[in-house]
Amino acid sequence: MRILNYIDGKLQEPVNKKFLDNYQPATGEVYGEIPDSRKEDIDLAVEAAKRAYPIWSSMSPGDRSKHLMNLSHAIEKNLEELAQAESKDNGKPLKLAQTVDIPRARDNFSFFATAILHEENAMHDMGKHAFNYTLRKPLGVVGCISPWNLPLYLFSWKIAPALAAGNCVVAKPSEVTPATAFLLSKLCIEVGFPAGVLNIVHGLGHHAGQAIVEHPDTKAISFTGGTETGKKIAETAAGQFKKTSLELGGKNANIIFEDCDFETAVKTAVKSSFANQGQICLCGSRILIHESIYEKFREAFVEQVKKLRVGPPDAAETQVGALVSLAHLQKVQQYIEVAKREGGNILCGGTEVQLNQPYARGYYLSPTVIDGLAPSCATNQEEIFGPVVTLMPFKNEEEALAIANGTKYGLSATIWTQNLQRAHRVAALLEVGIVWINCWLVRDLRTPFGGSKASGMGREGGRYALEFFTEPKNICVWLNQ
Ligand code: NAD
Repeated sequence: MRILNYIDGKLQEPVNKKFLDNYQPATGEVYGEIPDSRKEDIDLAVEAAKRAYPIWSSMSPGDRSKHLMNLSHAIEKNLEELAQAESKDNGKPLKLAQTVDIPRARDNFSFFATAILHEENAMHDMGKHAFNYTLRKPLGVVGCISPWNLPLYLFSWKIAPALAAGNCVVAKPSEVTPATAFLLSKLCIEVGFPAGVLNIVHGLGHHAGQAIVEHPDTKAISFTGGTETGKKIAETAAGQFKKTSLELGGKNANIIFEDCDFETAVKTAVKSSFANQGQICLCGSRILIHESIYEKFREAFVEQVKKLRVGPPDAAETQVGALVSLAHLQKVQQYIEVAKREGGNILCGGTEVQLNQPYARGYYLSPTVIDGLAPSCATNQEEIFGPVVTLMPFKNEEEALAIANGTKYGLSATIWTQNLQRAHRVAALLEVGIVWINCWLVRDLRTPFGGSKASGMGREGGRYALEFFTEPKNICVWLNQ
């Protein structure tokens, strides 16, 4: 697959004609190439977006909605092809791409396409003297930069609200998983999406990504990715007073109280630890268990984890596919070594899984469960972002909260208890942006999505995203003489 940039409605090579290798995680083979775009490509994309902006931003919400719905329908029509491409590019089980990633990308477009049909603006009445009304205006050209773990899902989660609000977009998917963003650009051409409104430029973060952030004419940056990258983006953007929305890393606690629905808690904990090979920012990578049920939980959990089937992403029975890249596999393996040095017990997994040809050089790791580590050690503090989870006992609610809140991150947490008062009390005291009680990853696209502390700044979802991508302007009207 030869991937091209999508600028001004046309597929094109990067100006320097240079390409990077694109790897298939399931086999470890190069299977395509992607543009190694630089500043000059971003300049072209921003110019195209600026030319398209006057028409797109002044279109009625109804007309913008129709264009976005066309994209949603095109994703639905091509769901199978997109799912195959996502699984091949990322290593995730095909079934996951078919049932979660691509349907969600479709829904991201339809959700924001219809949300703008119901928008209302504020009016503040000052009695007989005056009144105010507030316009919400799009920002102009905005940059959207996304990671590799949920490629089209997170790419469209940014692009859809940005476009719906009337902005023109320069977007960069992760260089590790560019395939479905490229297929989306082909769909844009197929459905006649207006040229220049959405531009998709491929390339490395410190080249193409950095150029989007630095460009004086990008008015806002919506970024999802690692905390260190987010920090760099925030520093660059601050100097230009650019709006930023930063969705960053996590080290989420999954808190199991003694009165939980045991079977459901164990089953869901397996999923929240290892779905997408543990490469979801919302995975519960630290499981905190009340000491009275610690051993029982550990036994049941490890037994179920051992049964998870690691295999080729396109095999129907596969539950855990390949990690996204060799570099990432090695990073996760290094963390397992750190855990051993810190004195952790590897209860299961921790080793590479050797599959037969053609998958023998793919990036497979057995789901890994570790216990015996202090909450303060590196394994329990740093984001691993792979199929690795730790178990820790706690004595009481206060200790559970202290451990849960005792990292620099603050993205999400899960609580398992039948005690209603405790559930709400603990939820209120967790220093995170999202809490699930007796469930995990149940999503309503209207709710605020994002983290606190080193997990980010700002919220996505529903009106929060539409507010980020617009600027309020108050207009005061004097009424009496
Ligand atoms: P990353 O930070 O390496 O890259 C993310 C994106 O930023 C890529 O497109 C990359 O090319 C680009 N980039 C890199 N350097 C840049 C720079 N200097 N300027 C501009 N762009 C740059 O992250 P990743 O490895 O792709 O993704 C994994 C991380 O993403 C994990 O930390 C995970 O927790 C996080 N994540 C967070 C959320 C969330 O909603 N909070 C969701 C998914 C993933």
